[in-house]
Amino acid sequence: MRRVLVAGNWKMHKTPSEARVWFRELKRLLPGGGSLLDSEVALLPAFPILPYAREVFGEGPVAYGAQDVSAHREGAYTGEVSARMLKDLGCRYAIVGHSERRRYHHETDTLVREKVLRLLEEGLTPILCVGEPLEVRERGEAVPYTLAQLEAALEGVELAGPERLVVAYEPVWAIGTGKNASPEDAEAMHQEIRQALARRYGEEFAARVRVLYGGSVNPKNFADLLSMPNVDGGLVGGASLELESFLALIKLA
Ligand code: 13P
Repeated sequence: MRRVLVAGNWKMHKTPSEARVWFRELKRLLPGGGSLLDSEVALLPAFPILPYAREVFGEGPVAYGAQDVSAHREGAYTGEVSARMLKDLGCRYAIVGHSERRRYHHETDTLVREKVLRLLEEGLTPILCVGEPLEVRERGEAVPYTLAQLEAALEGVELAGPERLVVAYEPVWAIGTGKNASPEDAEAMHQEIRQALARRYGEEFAARVRVLYGGSVNPKNFADLLSMPNVDGGLVGGASLELESFLALIKLA
């Protein structure tokens, strides 16, 4: 019912020239250039790399998108990139609310919600990141904290269909630490997220929204995470940068 999504968040890694070579190699190595896969593959490189993603993947089966988007539609916003620009480049997705943006760029839930709206207006699918820092989990407040982020970002947000949203549960303490959430802990949070989506959009709708897990996903832990009924794929940082590990993840999906 839900197609597994393996999404690589490259963060601030690789130059456009390096990425172009890597993309061509990935396309060559994927069965049927990606058309024979059961799962969906998406690459989320830095903005200047996106034209090369379009050049190599075009409208083919491998999707690509951005790591962020402006909350504004257009105008005097130096350094910003609009949803319309991303759409013009053929992006299917954009990440919003990644914990690194919340932390280093002080992004608030209100801002994240605006970004979700801008993407939806242009027909792009937000990959909405939520998740708690370590001290919140240790206080036993991981669920209310994470759901509050979800609720705030989706407040009053209408979705044309369940495929128009992807949620990524990324516990902050698991990102780049080599310490992933246990499959059981991930599943418990994914269930909470799906129930919250059901309260907002209805059971049937929520049953079709993909909820990804992110945080130290690698070829050794991915199969166990994916075996959980509410884990619909991964938002992968480090392990998406090497062809070998990224292909191994795709194979497991
Ligand atoms: P790592 O897979 O490197 O832990 O990063 C996860 C992440 O932040 C994906 O968005």
